[in-house]
Amino acid sequence: MERILTGRSALVTGSTSGIGLGIALLLAESGAKVMLNGMGKAEDIAAARAKVGAAMGGGDAPYSAADLSKPAGVRAMVAEAEAALGGVDILVNNAGIQFVSPVEDFPEEKWDAIIAINMSSNFHAIRAALPGMKARGWGRIINIASAHGLVASPYKVAYVAAKHGVVGMTKVVALEIAETPITCNAICPGFVRTPLAEAQVKPLADKFGISEEAALRDHLLVKQPSRRWIEVEDIARMALYLCGPGSGAVNGAALSIDGGWLAA
Ligand code: NAD
Repeated sequence: MERILTGRSALVTGSTSGIGLGIALLLAESGAKVMLNGMGKAEDIAAARAKVGAAMGGGDAPYSAADLSKPAGVRAMVAEAEAALGGVDILVNNAGIQFVSPVEDFPEEKWDAIIAINMSSNFHAIRAALPGMKARGWGRIINIASAHGLVASPYKVAYVAAKHGVVGMTKVVALEIAETPITCNAICPGFVRTPLAEAQVKPLADKFGISEEAALRDHLLVKQPSRRWIEVEDIARMALYLCGPGSGAVNGAALSIDGGWLAA
């Protein structure tokens, strides 16, 4: 792997699993110093730290246990990253959760949690990290939104609202920094093979009394014309492109990686 990010430092939220871990690993393999964040089992966090640390040349990758549902936690995480890495050149706002229910039954606490983690944490992290990027004269902000940041599906009211908010936030930040060497973009994946998405297959199979394979193809991926999972590496490669040379004019974009979903 060409080490095009040597000398850069990155904070990737929600990087103990799935897309965030894939992005953290590729950025580390490309030469960046990376701080991880996220929740989960202690052994999974330790494994993620060891894997990303190995890509950084050995030892455990630095890690923040901040709970991103709390603004103070987000601010503390950015401060920890600035102290551990000497600055945050690349901020990847990736942490997210999902909950599915008709709007009239949607639990209020699930709404609050999804808006806080999937949307507001991006605002608090950008607000905290941007002054350092401006001071150092370079920066990359990448918000992991979703195809659901651009179009809706039923039963995902909080998720769709939060992800549309992330796309809007991306555009505002991009305009405010347009004359600086900093960019802010959103990546809008379709269904990516991760624990968050795979967890939606079995409930569909149970609901319709069909196999998980049929539930995946005919229900979960019905809007994704490829009818195939997108892989974590597909998203990580776009993130690397946005951090690498030649991407400086890409700003305020909502970049679809969705197997054709938005084309339909
Ligand atoms: P995942 O469940 O594998 O990972 C989510 C990460 O967020 C984990 O590291 C988890 O610990 C962390 N997290 C959750 N709540 C947190 C909190 N309060 N504080 C700190 N960290 C927290 O999910 P994923 O599929 O990799 O999703 C990552 C992002 O990509 C999410 O924003 C999701 O909405 C988005 N996305 C996923 C898909 C998909 O199909 N998998 C599609 C579009 C967008």
